[in-house]
Amino acid sequence: MPVYLDHAATTPITGTALAAFTQHLSRSGNPSSLHGSGRRARIVVEESREKIAVAGGAHRSEIIFTSGGTEANNLAVKGLYWARRAADPARRRILCSSVEHHAVQDTVEWLASHEGADIVWLPVDAHGVVSIEALEHEIEADPGNVALVSVMWANNEVGAVQPIHDVVELAHRHGIPVHSDAVQAFGTIPVNFADSGLDTMAVSAHKIGGPVGVGALFVGRSVSLTPTQHGGGQERDVRSGTLDTAGIAAFAAAAEFAALNLTQEANRLVELRDSLIEAVQRAIPEAILRGPLEQGDYAKRLPGNAHFTFPGCEGDSLLFVLDMAGVESSTGSACTAGVPRPSHVLLAMGLTESEARGAQRFSLGHTSTSSDVDALVAVLPGAYASARKAGMAGHVSTIQTAGTISRAGNVSGTMRQGEK
Ligand code: PLP
Repeated sequence: MPVYLDHAATTPITGTALAAFTQHLSRSGNPSSLHGSGRRARIVVEESREKIAVAGGAHRSEIIFTSGGTEANNLAVKGLYWARRAADPARRRILCSSVEHHAVQDTVEWLASHEGADIVWLPVDAHGVVSIEALEHEIEADPGNVALVSVMWANNEVGAVQPIHDVVELAHRHGIPVHSDAVQAFGTIPVNFADSGLDTMAVSAHKIGGPVGVGALFVGRSVSLTPTQHGGGQERDVRSGTLDTAGIAAFAAAAEFAALNLTQEANRLVELRDSLIEAVQRAIPEAILRGPLEQGDYAKRLPGNAHFTFPGCEGDSLLFVLDMAGVESSTGSACTAGVPRPSHVLLAMGLTESEARGAQRFSLGHTSTSSDVDALVAVLPGAYASARKAGMAGHVSTIQTAGTISRAGNVSGTMRQGEK
């Protein structure tokens, strides 16, 4: 079995979620149907909605089920933009952190190229935390033309937890709605929608031990959103599509389990994370930890996140060599057609392109133990040496041609590999 250190990309389904999933998969019934099977499915959906609302500190009427985090972010950003602009055409400015996941970043860029939005990328500090001063400056410059603010709750690459309460406080002074992508935070650190004051918040099941393909957008009761897809209007007329009863039931089981164990699990992961960081830095003194420096706590950094840059090598090469050695990790950012691009998150934090290219994220989750850390540290020095030999130029193909690695890797092609 490989050592899995990529829980931020997706984490294995938990036992209770799998049980709920299989139980409801074998039953039929559309929750919108009026007969007995439909009504039974509807009860499952509504009980699940309640569980997810409780786990996220919301009222059940505030949960809109989606096909995952990407759809939830699209619905929030486009839906808020269109609704706000319809109410006042002057509202075209979107204030957005410069370290958003592509699910938000590309959505905002699409609004700029197709719908006349003006984007302001809010700067972050060297640890990836958004500048509240910059946000204040941008809002104060012209509050009337701001359509929305979007700042993620915690960053998927470097684990930086963002000052969401301050963001909301500033924006709400001027009645500006705030969206947050909480896909990495929900179920991992305390997230309470009501306390946050957010208008919309995106979450995803497969990051917390639920299945892939289901998520939710939390939407405050007084928030107006323009739908992005049209059809049966199943979810408050804002989101259409037959609800995935089994996926939703499994999502609820995972959310309930995560909420119940949150403090205990976060503390366990913090200890493991800190030991991983220390062990990596002992094994490779050149490795530079990126993201907030925080020992023994998870207020500033996600409990399962350790992110480094390794000088003199391509992150993709290191990933590939580690994979060959049985350790699965991630560079954390997107690559196109097999060509790695430096992460926009690391560039926003002030790294040079060459520094950013050596990125490697090790992320821990509910199946992680200290033996995973031991296994990583056992192979890392050799893997780093091999990846360094390949240098910065050729990445994976260089390693393959150099014959360092025997197994063929599926790394080229025209697919863009999404960021996780
Ligand atoms: N937002 C963040 C911060 C993520 O890490 C991810 C997952 O990669 C997403 C959004 C997309 O979520 P999903 O995979 O459910 O579409």
